[in-house]
Amino acid sequence: MSKVCLNGYREYYSDTTTPMNNLEQFREQTRAWLEDNCPSSMRTSTPDGEVIWGGRKQTWLNPDSKLWLERMAERGWTVPRWPTKYGGGGLNADQDKILMEEMRAINARSPLQSFGIWMLGPALLEFASDEQKKHYLPQIARGEIRWCQGYSEPNYGSDLAGLQTKAEDMGDYYLVNGAKIWTSYADEADWIFCLVRTDLDAPKHEGISFLLFDMDSEGVSTSPIPLISGASPFCQTFFDDVKVPKHQLVGELNNGWTIAKRLLQHERQMISGIGGNSALGGTGIKLEDLAKQCLGEENGRIADPTLRQDICEHRMNDLAFQLTMSRSGEEAKSGNLDANLASIFKYYGTEQNKRKYERMLNLMGTQMLGWGGDTFSTKELANTRQWLRSKANSIEGGTSEVQLNVISKRVLGLPD
Ligand SMILES: Cc1cc2nc3c(=O)[nH]c(=O)nc-3n(C[C@H](O)[C@H](O)[C@H](O)COP(=O)(O)OP(=O)(O)OC[C@H]3O[C@@H](n4cnc5c(N)ncnc54)[C@H](O)[C@@H]3O)c2cc1C
Repeated sequence: MSKVCLNGYREYYSDTTTPMNNLEQFREQTRAWLEDNCPSSMRTSTPDGEVIWGGRKQTWLNPDSKLWLERMAERGWTVPRWPTKYGGGGLNADQDKILMEEMRAINARSPLQSFGIWMLGPALLEFASDEQKKHYLPQIARGEIRWCQGYSEPNYGSDLAGLQTKAEDMGDYYLVNGAKIWTSYADEADWIFCLVRTDLDAPKHEGISFLLFDMDSEGVSTSPIPLISGASPFCQTFFDDVKVPKHQLVGELNNGWTIAKRLLQHERQMISGIGGNSALGGTGIKLEDLAKQCLGEENGRIADPTLRQDICEHRMNDLAFQLTMSRSGEEAKSGNLDANLASIFKYYGTEQNKRKYERMLNLMGTQMLGWGGDTFSTKELANTRQWLRSKANSIEGGTSEVQLNVISKRVLGLPD
């Protein structure tokens, strides 16, 4: 059983506890620092065009976003729990919780969205050489590199270990040839963390390595694929004789599957949060408030009893899920949690998010089926797209069926 803290951070990041009076002091200092340093325009929800992913291609619609990122990064608070020597804040779990609470209290935006923070960084902390950690982690913390994930291939998604993109040893570099698919933001990313086959004869799990390389390398090209929601956030990605310096291999040659699996656990944990609150994504409206708006109130209660029951059930499941997540976070402090539990959260969180949108559709009816035109408000048009986008939640990061397989085999120990 591998031990992992289910809020995405492994125990060893900083497992010290802080006495309560010191925590109160930490809260006061944090509140004062945020008050002085969080620009007022960063105390609102983030409009689509102002989400900061960092990297070389980042544009700054609102200059305060840049200032906010720089200030948070300087303090190590883009990655509060990473060690300070790698650009983190060195906070323990209690302090991290306080920071999040204080940020929420002033509605502070997250300064940086990043696959580097959510997925790659935690894997590098565990598997990379110290030289690699010192090189990549501070850049991730400062938002200087935007990463994409080169895992899935046209015929190898759920059966990921069958991947065929190969990297040949050419002396002082690897020569990479092949294609990836569904690579989120590959056309906007600076670097890729990529699974490649380095031993064609070994059993499939034992011939895979984990490489990092620059998306500007000669021989890398991308072709965007539209999603059902109309956006094109992912690509097919091609590698044609791409030369990758050998020092960009993470971990041991042919041992990339171990890293790949751990990174997937971090990814699944991150995705699971998507369904973890009762506000409807993008609208900021809770399901029960939306119901009141759509159906009117009867003595302060929603009139339709079936709908009322449905909404209560949803809300109760949301709360139970949140409590289970925080209980696991607490249990992780004792250091004995199975990392495969991330599959349970991924499965439940994404299915719950899909249910949330289905219920929203029941409430709004045809007003949530608009694709354009004057009869729909901007918010309604966005809702339609978000409902369609939610369908991908239970596919990205490994499908629900695959999570059920992991849970039955690795968590429950059922036979194959
Ligand atoms: C929005 C989005 C973003 C993504 N971003 C990335 C990214 O950045 N990088 C990346 O590498 N990939 C990315 N992916 C790809 C994603 O990881 C794969 O789509 C996913 O792993 C499923 O693989 P597949 O599409 O090849 O489906 P398949 O593996 O072909 O599966 C098809 C169906 O068969 C079922 N199935 C397959 N095997 C089994 C089994 N053993 N038991 C039961 N059922 C099974 C699946 O559940 C599914 O319903 C993204 C996908 C989406 C939707």
